[in-house]
Amino acid sequence: MSKQRIMKRNSFRIIAYSIIAVLLVSAIGFTLCNSSVAPISESVVTPNGESVYAPVDVDMKLEKVGDHSWYVQGKAGIATDNAGFISNAGVIVTDEGVVIFDGLGSPSLANKLVGKIKKITDKPIVKVVVSHYHADHIYGLQVFKELGAEIIAPDGVYEYIDSEGASSRLEERRLSLDPWVNDQTVVVTPDRIVDKSEDFTLGGIKFTLSFIGKAHSDGDLTLYVENDRVLFTGDLIFEGRVPFLGSSDTKHWLATLEKMESQNPHAIVPGHGPWAKDPKAITLTRKYLAFMREKMGAAVEELIDFDEAYNAIDWSEYEKLPAFEEANRKNAFQVYLSMEAEGS
Ligand SMILES: [Zn+2]
Repeated sequence: MSKQRIMKRNSFRIIAYSIIAVLLVSAIGFTLCNSSVAPISESVVTPNGESVYAPVDVDMKLEKVGDHSWYVQGKAGIATDNAGFISNAGVIVTDEGVVIFDGLGSPSLANKLVGKIKKITDKPIVKVVVSHYHADHIYGLQVFKELGAEIIAPDGVYEYIDSEGASSRLEERRLSLDPWVNDQTVVVTPDRIVDKSEDFTLGGIKFTLSFIGKAHSDGDLTLYVENDRVLFTGDLIFEGRVPFLGSSDTKHWLATLEKMESQNPHAIVPGHGPWAKDPKAITLTRKYLAFMREKMGAAVEELIDFDEAYNAIDWSEYEKLPAFEEANRKNAFQVYLSMEAEGS
């Protein structure tokens, strides 16, 4: 064989090996990149079609709050009590499919909810609206995603998803809520982000998504079912207790509550606790925020020191409410600082 032919053959070999190597690396890369989502489908059912989510023994009842609207109520208590069943989820049944509001605190809880829904309708679950991304509302999302539902969440949720806190919280819950939250549990990213309010109709039922922005969390969304006049608020409403303001944008939150009151809903389903039949729950939170902003705003404007201003305020309308001791002073300080920033 001539030297030239050998060289030609070698270069063919090199090209062929390179192509094989590139294909191999791509295949490995594809598998790795998709490993965060792929295991979900493998984990949902065994080959004989049984659920592999650990069964969860909690008392979960679908309660009707409107002609098409239902909800399940999480138990009072800390996040790891009652197998993590501390938050509510809404269920709206239409002729063309089911809309879910919030994803519950574990795949096992979501799977249990799916079983309850199957008893009241044979329609598929087509959408899940997530009020906000906090652990107790999202770990069940993968179950709905697996069933083909579109996951809709407010702008701002990536602040949570990309945060160190999100992964450390999941690690912690894999221990504290084992076996309901485990290595198969993932934080599902939304299919669609909503950054302004919008309406949609499904099976003749009109829904309004209200984008709240940064209020209780880095991004909040509410869902109003117009035909039933039922409002699902997520954690924007704290029924019968002093709300926890955290790092919220109280100005925006207050404006939203005013709008909610004007919708005059028949039923309000909060993120935690029982549903309310009238807008009283909104009114309490709205009045509290307005009072806080009025008092703290005046102190900031008159350059009064926080402690002096706080001690001079008559809190008698709120001090009998649960969580006043724990939350009120922190809330006031947060509003004081944020109103200083608003004014600057
Ligand atoms: Zn919550």
